[in-house]
Amino acid sequence: MAENNDPSILSITEPTIFERGSKGRDGVALPSTGIEQVDVNTLLPVDMIRDEIDGLPEVSEVETVRHYTRLSQLNYGVDNGFYPLGSCTMKYNPKVNEDVARYPGFSGAHPYQPVESVQGNLSLMYELESLLGEITALPHVTLQPAAGAHGEMVGMMMIRAYHEDHGNPRTKVLIPDTAHGTNPASSALCGYKVVPIASNDKGILDAAEVERVMDEEVAALMLTNPNTLGLFEENILEIAKVVHDKGGLIYCDGANMNALMGIAKPGDMGVDVLHLNLHKTFSTPHGGGGPGAGPVCVTETLAPYLPAPVIVKSGDKYSFNDDRPKSIGRVKAFYGNFGILVRAYAYIRTMSAEGLKRVSETALINANYIKERLKEYYDLPYDLPCMHECVFSDKKLTPYGIKTLDVAKRLIDYGFHPPTIYFPLVVNGAIMIEPTETESRQTIDWFCDAMINIAKEAEREPELLKEAPTKAACRRLDEVKAAREPKLRWQP
Ligand SMILES: *Cc1c(COP(=O)(O)O)cnc(C)c1O
Repeated sequence: MAENNDPSILSITEPTIFERGSKGRDGVALPSTGIEQVDVNTLLPVDMIRDEIDGLPEVSEVETVRHYTRLSQLNYGVDNGFYPLGSCTMKYNPKVNEDVARYPGFSGAHPYQPVESVQGNLSLMYELESLLGEITALPHVTLQPAAGAHGEMVGMMMIRAYHEDHGNPRTKVLIPDTAHGTNPASSALCGYKVVPIASNDKGILDAAEVERVMDEEVAALMLTNPNTLGLFEENILEIAKVVHDKGGLIYCDGANMNALMGIAKPGDMGVDVLHLNLHKTFSTPHGGGGPGAGPVCVTETLAPYLPAPVIVKSGDKYSFNDDRPKSIGRVKAFYGNFGILVRAYAYIRTMSAEGLKRVSETALINANYIKERLKEYYDLPYDLPCMHECVFSDKKLTPYGIKTLDVAKRLIDYGFHPPTIYFPLVVNGAIMIEPTETESRQTIDWFCDAMINIAKEAEREPELLKEAPTKAACRRLDEVKAAREPKLRWQP
């Protein structure tokens, strides 16, 4: 029997559904009813009857089930193995939160139902806002944004509204070179010029460097903490002071909250606006393209600009309040992505404050363990205690003609999903590993053993890496051709 991380389970060759079955075969055959058959042409106007479609698959029920089940097995997901993508927090999400999100009162609520009939749902949202406010020490929260990048845009719109309200929207946003690509995009969408700032040789920002570029045209500094090198921006208090002294605001990209929960609060670090990724930190599976939720948490000062409506509580009744003259307006229809909010609420309540703290502590320990085990074999450009992820490079392997891409492809042969590669851009040939808190020591050791073996193979048998993957359903693709000539449709 195959070991549970044997990638050969991935090597199923599956023909397309069009290549299966044969003429006249069908999924469901019911007994004759005895009712006389009528020609459809006598029942419907001719222009409403579609032509026969040639080439549709004709398959039995079991063939259909097997086909799609097999296709689903070609997908690698966190339910079949370790998925150490950096920055994206591909952690395992407890199934109980899926069950809760499917309760009929949550999943069956209609967006047009009168608010009196969805009081439970509103109370869940109201309480979730206050829980997220407590986790971040930024007490005013909107749950409307549908993703992290959407949250960034909403946060930047609020920053713009704040500055406009104070007489000048300003023109620039400062963004460190370690930032996620969505940060400059969100700033530009809100009409700001992006000014990049270099991090220092320790991989973090210096207050002096911020001071050098800070002026009264800067609306905000947009910072990720911990940053995408997995390092804590330890000068944050000094940096926040420099920015605030010139009237600017601090935006923090909180997609990496998995490292901080219960340990440190961005609101205590001088942050004014922060978005969270519920689909990374708070138990919504992601990676398949959505849906997600990117709540934005802000200080008292910025609360008037929050998207409207806001949920208010009076006595024990919840309602929506639209009377918000300074609001940036609505950013998402109805209740936002409500199912994601239910999962986050269930996750926080089942974990408890103590549990959330342990999540972050374990995420940190796991990442540091990997960093220590692998640093002898892989170049570690910033050798400091890391947070929830660590970043290596391919520098030690390039003398053998081996690049980061070859290591990633070879990992597939060992049964692992490759980590994030070539990001962050400040590290050439980056290999960015985020193990998350949900993996056992044993799984992490399997992964480290594979990485160490690959480093040895690079020296002794580099051609093994160049050919990889050899065991997966798909061999190495021509990535340029795939990007230039995507073939997305079945063609007979
Ligand atoms: C994932 C991520 C984002 C973007 O979030 P989406 O939900 O994918 O839009 C932004 N910043 C960081 C640091 C991230 O990891």
